[in-house]
Amino acid sequence: MTEEKKLVIASAYFASDKVIFAVRDDGAATGFRVDKVDAAGESVPDDQKMEEDLHSAVEGIKNLLTHTEKLRAVVLICPGPFRTIDKDSHLYGEISHNAEVRYWRKKNAIELFRKRLISEMGADTEDSEIYIYNQAGATAVGEYLHIYGNKIKRSKSRGKLHKQLGNHLYVVADYTIDAALIVEGEPFHGLSTMNVGHHAVIPVDEDDQTLELLQNRTHPERPCLNSLASLDAIKKRWSGMRSEEFSCCTDKSKISRIAFYIAQMLANVILSVSPAKIVIGGRIKDNPHMIPMIRQHIDYLLRDQENPEIYPGYPQINDLDSFIVEQDYRDSGVKGGLHVLARTLIKEHDESNIASFEAYKKGLYPL
Ligand SMILES: [Zn+2]
Repeated sequence: MTEEKKLVIASAYFASDKVIFAVRDDGAATGFRVDKVDAAGESVPDDQKMEEDLHSAVEGIKNLLTHTEKLRAVVLICPGPFRTIDKDSHLYGEISHNAEVRYWRKKNAIELFRKRLISEMGADTEDSEIYIYNQAGATAVGEYLHIYGNKIKRSKSRGKLHKQLGNHLYVVADYTIDAALIVEGEPFHGLSTMNVGHHAVIPVDEDDQTLELLQNRTHPERPCLNSLASLDAIKKRWSGMRSEEFSCCTDKSKISRIAFYIAQMLANVILSVSPAKIVIGGRIKDNPHMIPMIRQHIDYLLRDQENPEIYPGYPQINDLDSFIVEQDYRDSGVKGGLHVLARTLIKEHDESNIASFEAYKKGLYPL
């Protein structure tokens, strides 16, 4: 007797320290289950770390499923940039040669994952669909829903509500610094995803030796945010300082220096898209002084000194505590990934667009 298996969708988020995975029922935003394990550590050779992390994700997803469930689709939320986001391209799934996480470079995450999936979970997964998505984008979607999900569900006019809520910027400040923007409820991307980590920032009060040490090889003449203020930069600046050490660092001059560069990037983005809120995630903000210092620097960089009480068009700056906030939901990345995946599946398989309305009713939309 063969029984009809219940379809589920899954996401796996590859952070530098953890592999986080989640599953939920297909076609409805229920049955959410999540778990995580440590990412491949020092004992694993660099050239095997990616495969090891993909393996952890397959194992993790397998453990979250019951024997009456079938995996319909998976989204891999990987370190970028990606070679292409065109799903029909033979390069889809490949990580770019300039990815900051070196051991992911030039490898095809989808191919490697599929191979492992079939060998671990059998022929049942041969037709499972696999997609990739960027980390800041998935986190942005998850965090936006975490903050406004209930409000959106109850709203009679979602389009109007999204307009009122305004643009939201999500920053993941970690080994690299990335960001994503939600515009009227939709994740924004142009031809590529936002890459604030390579935004030019002005080095202040740095000696030549430090600048040389932190120089980015791909664009040596242009100091960027990643090269000056990412966890990678922190490690290079202060004799191998790791993220855990930086989170309990009490040297205000060090924290302020990093906060100042992040604030420079934020100031430019604020001036470009005037977001209603900025949410900061990643391990750099784990230092309790970081976000308050970023707020101070934003005030310093953007306040109109001639008319300090009115900065036309940017009222957010008058209430920095609610304007710049910390990501408070740790699983936003995998949860956002599931939403993006559900939405992708509808778009991929819906030719008439009527199914979108069904999905909308089930609460899969707005994203
Ligand atoms: Zn750069």
